[in-house]
Amino acid sequence: MSAPYPDAAAVAAASDRHLFQNYRRQPIAFARGRGARLWDLAGGEYLDFIGGIATSSLGHAHPALVRAVSDQVARYVHVSNLYLIPEQARAAELLTAASGLGRAFFCNSGAEANEAAIKLARRRAHDLRGPGEYEILVAQGSFHGRTLGALAATGNPAYHAGFGPLPGGFRFLPYNDLEAAEAAIGPNTCAVLVEPIQGEGGVVPADGAWLAGLQGLCRGHGALFMLDEVQTGIGRTGRMFAYQHHGLAPDLVCLAKGLGGGVPIGAVLATDDAARHLVPGDHGSTFGGNALASAAACAVLETIASDGLLDPVTAMGGRLRAGLAALAARRPEVGAVRGAGLLLGVDVQVDAAALAAACAGRGLLVNNVRPLTLRLAPPLVVTAADVDAALVALEQALDDVSRRRGGDEAAGKDQEAT
Ligand SMILES: *Cc1c(COP(=O)(O)O)cnc(C)c1O
Repeated sequence: MSAPYPDAAAVAAASDRHLFQNYRRQPIAFARGRGARLWDLAGGEYLDFIGGIATSSLGHAHPALVRAVSDQVARYVHVSNLYLIPEQARAAELLTAASGLGRAFFCNSGAEANEAAIKLARRRAHDLRGPGEYEILVAQGSFHGRTLGALAATGNPAYHAGFGPLPGGFRFLPYNDLEAAEAAIGPNTCAVLVEPIQGEGGVVPADGAWLAGLQGLCRGHGALFMLDEVQTGIGRTGRMFAYQHHGLAPDLVCLAKGLGGGVPIGAVLATDDAARHLVPGDHGSTFGGNALASAAACAVLETIASDGLLDPVTAMGGRLRAGLAALAARRPEVGAVRGAGLLLGVDVQVDAAALAAACAGRGLLVNNVRPLTLRLAPPLVVTAADVDAALVALEQALDDVSRRRGGDEAAGKDQEAT
């Protein structure tokens, strides 16, 4: 099929005219990709260091994903959970083997995974202890999604504004503060839900000791220890799951972003003991874990294993981090670097949105996750040459932004003078 519009300007015009205006988009439209590279409609080449917001785990047009999805589409796409779905069962087998958790439930997004986790935690507490034991401890600065329940659990007031009433039952704790958690957990706490690294919050890692402390508090209070690994899961941090860096044993893990390599799929993994609290009729999803999305997840999981992608994630993440640290030593506009593996945040002292736009102008795609923080999350297959080229482009973009600022100041002075 030929492209529906000839160029990015035509796509922008149609988008401005016909779409909800709820996104701030870069004026770039892509035609194709390969690995960590993308080409726009005019043939311009980009290094994709945001990877569809940490979703393109295998990079673009990976042969294993192309084959799995094409083969599945050619057989059938969707039959619903009224029937057995071989690809879904296989994806669950792979995920439970990788995590040590007993069972998987599939949905279509990160928000939906968190919704399922919240419902499971409430239902379990209701079954075991009766109604009224529904409180879930969550963290300030967190992000769990945009649906009402996941939004209510999200510790960023700006995302709540004007959408009330939100579901209650969430108590917010300062991130990485165990004393606050000890003070807050009580008999009506049914679960704790936190991110091992706050991705949308600016790539802020949790202390291992805090996570271990939360796990201990949950065990002591019979509450579920639940991790939102929607962004950190599926190899992103150099382990299959971020909690594996800290030797943790969560009761439940939420997944989505990287799981389908860009094909929408979410999942909740849970212990047998927790999962048994959802029985037929309690929860479901029409599309959840359909054959197409599950085939994509299987291809991602099998390729990470067969191609041994986790060690390269650590190596390439280390290379990127070292390059950013060297840049920070040379450039006063670049500050702290945080994160793990190929999920990194870089603090900058220039407008991160302007810098991200300048990066795109230099052929590098990154995301201004916070006003003064860039997020980098390239595909897990990113190469050393890609990393080195990205660092060069980032420095050029810094020059562009600084020059522009210098130019603005000079222009301002001129205006004052006249
Ligand atoms: C992106 C994200 C979500 C929401 O995922 P959607 O697929 O956009 O609903 C939830 N939790 C975390 C940690 C995320 O990074």
